[in-house]
Amino acid sequence: MPWGTGTGISEPFADKVRAGADAGLVTFHFRHRVDGLVFDGPRVVGVRGTVLAPDTARRGAPSSRAAVGDFELRADAVVIASGGIGGNHEQVRRWWPERLGTPPRRMITGVPEHVDGRMLDIAADQGVRLVNRDRMWHYTEGLQNWNPIWPDHAIRILPGPSSIWLDARGRRLPAPGLPGYDTLGTLELLRTTPDIADYDYSWFVLDQTILKKEFSLSGSEQNPDITNRDLALLLRSRLGRTAQGPVEAFKEHGADFVVADTVEELVAGMNDLSGDGLLDAAEIEQQIVKRDNEVDNPYSKDVQVMGIHNSRRFRGDRLFRTAKPHRVLDPAHGPLIAVRLRIVTRKTLGGIQTDLEGRALGADAQPIPGLYAAGEAAGFGGGGAHGYNALEGTFLGGCLFTGRTVGRSLVRAL
Ligand SMILES: Cc1cc2nc3c(=O)[nH]c(=O)nc-3n(C[C@H](O)[C@H](O)[C@H](O)COP(=O)(O)OP(=O)(O)OC[C@H]3O[C@@H](n4cnc5c(N)ncnc54)[C@H](O)[C@@H]3O)c2cc1C
Repeated sequence: MPWGTGTGISEPFADKVRAGADAGLVTFHFRHRVDGLVFDGPRVVGVRGTVLAPDTARRGAPSSRAAVGDFELRADAVVIASGGIGGNHEQVRRWWPERLGTPPRRMITGVPEHVDGRMLDIAADQGVRLVNRDRMWHYTEGLQNWNPIWPDHAIRILPGPSSIWLDARGRRLPAPGLPGYDTLGTLELLRTTPDIADYDYSWFVLDQTILKKEFSLSGSEQNPDITNRDLALLLRSRLGRTAQGPVEAFKEHGADFVVADTVEELVAGMNDLSGDGLLDAAEIEQQIVKRDNEVDNPYSKDVQVMGIHNSRRFRGDRLFRTAKPHRVLDPAHGPLIAVRLRIVTRKTLGGIQTDLEGRALGADAQPIPGLYAAGEAAGFGGGGAHGYNALEGTFLGGCLFTGRTVGRSLVRAL
């Protein structure tokens, strides 16, 4: 199950590549940073770059960029699979589309530092055709990681449907601004609504019951039960009385959490945290009461309450995902919790344009002999297979599919 943690998906592929290395079919060149493609006439015949100093940084952590040498490698074909641009805020701002309003002044980073988009610019400078660079996918439910692996490390909440989502001014977001509903729709809402676009954050208001049942965090280290395939831990942590360990740790140590017993205290904490003083406790309480009053109404027209009932019709969500509808102000479900949410940079939906065989195209829209592209660098396929939007969680699929397409093409071509 790839629930915010892809280790189980990549493992069979990694095993095959390691087996290939053991059989002498694959050679790894770790710490070799590509700085350019090598051409022989129109054909790509290799790569050149810098050998970086050895480093034992753990996975995802920044590593030394100190150069200790140069290299050039020649091959019958080169495949660019260098990922997207999400770790490079300058690039994200540069390509931020007008349809998503203005980029926030402060974003946090949902990918490791090596997802820097550098190779895409190198390829473009050498005549590779890049398209749809204004297509991107960033999350609106980002937390600053209290225990970061990479700089400005953000964790995305994978939220169930019950948290009350407020804008920076403390108003409930209209649909599609409901937790877990529509990533880019909510991003657009937050970044194009004039009186909130000046602020870089929004809020979830919830209670301990919702936190326990509905908060999951994205990232392999945040899901030790699934990452380590520990069924006992999975059942204990997802069905137990407290929230999962990593979620409780965020509640305790995270810079974005406010925990209180009354709305007044909660809102005071929220105003302190933002420093903007935009929130009025009475107004927020009124909205929560209004929403709470809808919980027992089976014919409620409150879109969020309808969504909660809808979600609980599915047994899997009822068991693992969606808290039983209840009054957020009922102290039995307390304490109250507010979470400040920022924009998390994540996916790049455009990139190197390829044909259906995964061959990279040049400025003249013809395949460049010897050059291929796969994965996020190729916009998950063709230079933007998803279009302007995407279905949640379908990105790795594009990486696997384009990898397979390129692999098959190489077998045919070489
Ligand atoms: C926390 C997190 C959760 C995610 N969850 C999901 C999910 O649930 N479902 C889903 O579908 N997708 C998810 N994604 C997205 C998905 O993981 C990525 O889109 C995918 O891993 C991209 O794979 P890739 O091989 O194309 O690029 P990457 O995994 O980014 O790999 C690119 C590699 O190229 C190397 N590289 C870059 N430039 C150079 C250079 N110049 N020289 C040498 N090497 C270079 C990098 O170091 C890196 O190793 C998630 C991503 C993150 C960060």
